[in-house]
Amino acid sequence: SGFCSATGIYTGKREPAHLPSDPFLTLPTFILDRPTLDHSAIAFIDSSTGAYLTYGQLKTQVFSLAAGLSSFGIQPGDVVLFLSPNSIPFAVSMLAIMACGAVVTPTNPLNTPSEIAKQASDSRAKFVVSIPHLLHKLPKGLPLLLLKDIDINDIENLNLRSEITPTGKHINAHALAQVLARLGVPRFATFSQLLQHRVPSTSSDYRGSQDHTAALLYSSGTTGKSKGVILTHRNFIAQILILMQVEGHIPWTSRVYMCLIPMFHVYGMAFFACGLLAKGSTVVLQSKFDLSETLSAIERFKVTHLPAVPPVIIALAKSPVVQKFDLSSLRNVGSGAGPLGKDVMEEFAKRFPNVEVPQGYGMTETTAVGAHTATPEESKHHGSAGLIAANTEFKIVDADSGCALPPNQRGEIWIRGPTVMKGYFANPGETAAVIDREGWLHTGDLGFIDEEGFVFIVDRLKELIKYKGFQVAPAELEAVLLSHPMILEAAVVPFPDEEAGQIPMAFVVRNMETTLSEEDVIKHVADQVAPYKKIRKVAFVPSIPKSTSGKILRKDLVTMAMSRL
Ligand code: AMP
Repeated sequence: SGFCSATGIYTGKREPAHLPSDPFLTLPTFILDRPTLDHSAIAFIDSSTGAYLTYGQLKTQVFSLAAGLSSFGIQPGDVVLFLSPNSIPFAVSMLAIMACGAVVTPTNPLNTPSEIAKQASDSRAKFVVSIPHLLHKLPKGLPLLLLKDIDINDIENLNLRSEITPTGKHINAHALAQVLARLGVPRFATFSQLLQHRVPSTSSDYRGSQDHTAALLYSSGTTGKSKGVILTHRNFIAQILILMQVEGHIPWTSRVYMCLIPMFHVYGMAFFACGLLAKGSTVVLQSKFDLSETLSAIERFKVTHLPAVPPVIIALAKSPVVQKFDLSSLRNVGSGAGPLGKDVMEEFAKRFPNVEVPQGYGMTETTAVGAHTATPEESKHHGSAGLIAANTEFKIVDADSGCALPPNQRGEIWIRGPTVMKGYFANPGETAAVIDREGWLHTGDLGFIDEEGFVFIVDRLKELIKYKGFQVAPAELEAVLLSHPMILEAAVVPFPDEEAGQIPMAFVVRNMETTLSEEDVIKHVADQVAPYKKIRKVAFVPSIPKSTSGKILRKDLVTMAMSRL
């Protein structure tokens, strides 16, 4: 205390990456037009079907689809909503949309139709990309790109059989258009149609800019509800070069990655759908996490790398199922998106002594990673989130004095560098609240940096709850709680949970006359939000503690919840 250095800036120890200066470079071109692209190497494998795509095929598909999408009407700057689990066509169309100069805004398929509609309207989406299985959740009025052709089973699942007369498995195009119109889809095309649309071109017609928006990813940031994080082509290119400059023991082109992280999250998008492609690795895609299926895919495709989240690592460390599979190909299991406990790490190391466990820390607002471990030596710093990423600066700032702190003292983490977002979409107020005039992003995370430059994340100052790595915004759940006529006041806080990291817990002030129960509260919320956002614990209280300015004293509530245990 009392210390306030002239700058207090930590730059880390990593060799800076050379970032391309060409202002017109775009992400798809950066990934697919590079001279070292090996056309015959395998880019993607679908874990359930074994179907695969080589880099040569990927490049042809991306640029043919981009041409097809342009004739479908997608123009530079248009925002395109994605509602799909991981799949090869998902990754291809994401890159194709960026190659058209359009903007990808992905959403979690578990979200409810109203949550999806909210994102579609906030991002001003003009098109939607989805799969037959999710048609009932689509926002109305948007032209649709279907990643998979509709067959008779889909029609049955959607209860639309009576509306059309199929011949065998085939559905007449005219009838299909009518059915989709009834679901609110004015126009549609399929992935396979658009791929045929034009003679495959090998680059895009659009003259891009590194500075253009590539994606709008929704995050609640440090406070309030979900907002669109503007990430540019430059943000992604910088993230890839900064994160992936170290070659390591296994060359990138010999690595087989398993992707169970959803591509609608920055982790999946920046790392699997873009980063690994720029390095020529093979990516095995899983549409949704299922431990046995993941293990069987690791065995079958000889997966070497599995970037994951803490709950998956806990399952690998503890589940008896693990012993049934030959996982000898596995060299590296990464952890990110939330804290990984030291105990879990040690338990994991006992079961998998030859597997490295690198860590990453970052947020959507930093295009994923701000600090990470990259070598086995670095990974041995159990409990640390890693060294500051190359080309990136950190400050640890004391909340009360605003002073930048020396090593080993706790404060708010501030980050500056080429991966920091441009801002929140159409929200200058929220942007100014997190990025200051000198370009520092105030992360809302509490941490410190040791003498060796290792970053430790201690706690969260912000409101955000993370359930299994997924964001849950307390403000959003509080609004849902307050919509209940018998709830007078409500506050939602994180409650520690071994498996999920944290679960959302509600403190509720109920109307005196009511018999409202814990189950009623849980159900009221569960009916209106995606399953991962559910309230999982309730406490009825006479009042919610607030500061003199009316802010909910969340830390007091967490302490209260813990002492009730
Ligand atoms: P998101 O934008 O969904 O990636 O969430 C970012 C937030 O997740 C960060 O601000 C942290 O609070 C938390 N987080 C991410 N990585 C880590 C980590 N390695 N250790 C602790 N917390 C993390």
